[in-house]
Amino acid sequence: MTDQPMVCAFHPNRSTTLRCNRCGRPICTSCAILTPVGYRCKVCVREQQKVFETANWYDFITVPVVAGVICGVGSLLTSVLGFFVIFEAFFVGTIAARAVLRVVRPRRSRYFRWAAAIGGVLGCLPIMVPTVLLLLIYSPSNLLAIGMSLLWPGAYLVIAVGFLVANI
Ligand SMILES: [Zn+2]
Ligand SMILES: [Zn+2]
Repeated sequence: MTDQPMVCAFHPNRSTTLRCNRCGRPICTSCAILTPVGYRCKVCVREQQKVFETANWYDFITVPVVAGVICGVGSLLTSVLGFFVIFEAFFVGTIAARAVLRVVRPRRSRYFRWAAAIGGVLGCLPIMVPTVLLLLIYSPSNLLAIGMSLLWPGAYLVIAVGFLVANI
């Protein structure tokens, strides 16, 4: 502790009384970043963010593929399960989230859940597309039938992907 005036580590011409509470660098008010744990310098903030972004580029291929395959396999049952797709979707969403986390572990990224969501949605689509096409070809006027035939696959998609995202 000295009485000498400190100068900002990033602006040598600005005196300051503030220090980064992680590395102790003197920082001026325009360099200080208020974090939930107090004022920090931009170097420390950047390092902290890196800890949470450890993804490899191929994680953004494997994550959607794993999520899509599991959600897609689960979606095959939506036509026979009826109301019970709701329970199946919870189950599949949880399994898919576990599988994704297992594949990427120990890496972390806040984008994994969105990569998984995109894969999950795409995985659910194949079962819905033929139904819609068939109905459009054979009874284009029967929009109610189209809506009804998509009810359970649609419910499955929303719940499974919702649970998948919530668990990653
Ligand atoms: Zn710092
Ligand atoms: Zn500064």
